[in-house]
This record gives sequence, C-alpha cells and structure tokens, in this order.
Amino acid sequence: MKKASIYLDYQSTTPVDPRVITEMLPYFFEVPGNPHASEHAFGWMANAAIEQARSTIACAIGADEDEILFTSGATESNNLAILGLAVGATSKRNRILTSTIEHKSVLSAARAAARKLGFNVELIPVNNQGVIRLECLMNMLKDDVLLVSVMGFNNEVGSPQPIAEIAELCHGVNAVFHSDGAQSLAAGVIDVGRIGLDMLSLSGHKIYGPKGIGALYISRNLHSFIEPIIYGGGQQEGLRSGTLPVPLCVGLAKAVSLMKTEDALAEQIQIAALRDRFVERLISILPGTRLVGLTGNARHPGNANVFLPEVDAADLLTRLQPRVAASTGAACTSGIPEPSHVLMALGLSQQEAESCIRFSFGRFSTKEHIDSATDAIQEVLGR
Ligand code: PMP
Repeated sequence: MKKASIYLDYQSTTPVDPRVITEMLPYFFEVPGNPHASEHAFGWMANAAIEQARSTIACAIGADEDEILFTSGATESNNLAILGLAVGATSKRNRILTSTIEHKSVLSAARAAARKLGFNVELIPVNNQGVIRLECLMNMLKDDVLLVSVMGFNNEVGSPQPIAEIAELCHGVNAVFHSDGAQSLAAGVIDVGRIGLDMLSLSGHKIYGPKGIGALYISRNLHSFIEPIIYGGGQQEGLRSGTLPVPLCVGLAKAVSLMKTEDALAEQIQIAALRDRFVERLISILPGTRLVGLTGNARHPGNANVFLPEVDAADLLTRLQPRVAASTGAACTSGIPEPSHVLMALGLSQQEAESCIRFSFGRFSTKEHIDSATDAIQEVLGR
C-alpha cells in the first residue's frame, strides 16, 4: 500500500474501541465458564458477567434487565421482533407496517411473515429527505395493524425518524411498535420508556463494540406473545436459546455504556463538524455536489451520503482503493448490482443513485483523515 488507507465507512461497521477490548479480554481465558453452567464457580462468574452486561444495557436505554435479550446482532434482533411476534401473536390483526427505507433484515423478515404466515405488509413512504410521512402512517394505522417497524436513523442517508410520534400513534390503536436502532445509539441517547418503544434492536459493531453480538429490548408486556426463532436449551427465558458468548456480551455492554457518557454528546458534535468539513471540501472540488437527505443537526452526525454530479460512484470507489474506504448503498444480489432501495425511496432516479457515495465518520476520524481523503478524491477525479 502506497499510503495508509483512510476508513470512512463507520456506518457499515466501526473499529472496536480499545476500552471495549480490554473489558472483553479476561472472558476469553481467565473466566472460561459457560454462563448457563450452574454447578460450579466458573459458570457463576460467567453468569455474573452476563447479568452485569444485561443490567448495563438495560440501564442505558431505560429498560429493566429482564427486558434485554442478547442476540447475534441487529439482523437477528429484527427477525425475532418481526417473525417472533407474527408467529406468537394471538390476535386477528393481520397487517404489518414498515417503511420503504428499512434495512433488508426488516424488509425481508416482514416479507417472510407475509409469505409464510399470510400477513399483509405495507410500506410507509418517506419524503425526499428520507423521513417517514406521518400523515401516511396515520391513514394506514387501523386496529387491524399488529406491528409497525420503523428504524431510528437510516443507515444510508442518516435521516432521523420521529419515533416518539410513531410510538404514540401506534399505541392509539394498540399496535406494537418496534424500532431498528442499529444506527441510533451512535446518534444519541435512547430511553425506551420515554419514547414508548415496545421493541428495540441494537448491534454491537455499529457502536465500537464487537461484531456478532446485538440485543433486542422487548417490553415485559410482550414476552408471552413472542415465539422464539431459535430453539434449544431454553436459555434467556426460552426466547433465544444458545450459549451466550460472554466476551461479546461484556463488550457490547461496555460499548453501550461508552455511548452514554458525558463525552458522547461532545463526540457527536465533533464528528458532525468533521463530516461538514468533508462535505464542504468535496463541494469545492466538485461544484454541484450535495448531501442526499436532510441537512442540519438532526441528521446522523457521522453520515454524509453525497451526490457527485456526473460521477460513477462505483468506479470512483474502485479508483480510490486502497486509499479511502466508503460505500455505495447498491446491493449486489445474484451478481447484478441493484440501485439502493433507500435512494430510490427518496425519489432519486437510478442514474442519480449511481452517483451517490456514503462516507461515514466516527470516534477515530480526524481532520487529517478528512483532508487526505478529499485530496485523494480530487486526485482521482483529476481536478
Ligand atoms: N439495521 C441497520 C439499520 C443496519 O445498519 C444494520 C447493519 N448494516 C443492520 C440492521 C444489521 O446489523 P447486524 O450487522 O448487527 O446484523
């Protein structure tokens, strides 16, 4: 590699914070017990670590310990929230509402509920800034809706969703409200009680924790209506069987607690300032460049999804390798790249979507990274 690579893909995944790694290390070797082994001290120690981690996460989001389930990540949490409720619910409600800009793990789980269980799945549209159109949701919400699932912050365009308002609307018709919060904690604090969330999905690797671990908050009132999607030894009250990975659970808890410190807000402001510097520099290199989606403070602080006029995004990213890491939202299923469903939902044409790149910033981004990355882009664009 000629020059060091600059990592601007934090919304895809974050580096693990060294403080998280330190917290995890003893649980690989020194505390080898199975947290579900109740006959010996090794098991008790591992179990104590799990329960401490559960309590830290619960406390950080305003929940109780018994409302937090560990999962393998937000994909599994979203699947359990949607399919678990769809299978377990006993009412006649047969509609599931979700938005056009959800992550595929929500959209696909909802589609599976339609295909296998006969639910009607309807998509709530967003405006051209990527924010749910509440007036549409209001029209769609009736007392036959079982579940509404809307993410906290979009992963491609960083748009915040009015989840407190959505929760209130849902509760008006006794529908369950789930939010995919994979990108939410990096953008601010969440209090499930204050917001009125019934279920919330979290992921470790979006908040400087390890990959392969996440959590699902399920309000206690709902427990008896959720059917597991993973069966086995009956761990976690039978809702999610499987031996818990102690180091990962401990790491997730540490990562969540770091997002709750007094420094977290200052960190978000600093990240947003770096993001703004990046966008300004890009605009000066390539006039006509613009942020896709919402501008201003409400946007996810680390997100800059930019439209670069007359630039082929995939080609630019290829030519930037290995100097700058970022991503296009395009999915590549079965070898044929499809334009991002999120950008299309915001009203971009396929051609416009092909000129968009998501650069994302985080805790370890620096001014030097921003300047070197924009220099590299300028060089590659030949300007
Ligand atoms: N939801 C959103 C909004 C995401 O950004 C992601 C990760 N791209 C996921 C769900 C899936 O999370 P995980 O990788 O933890 O399964």
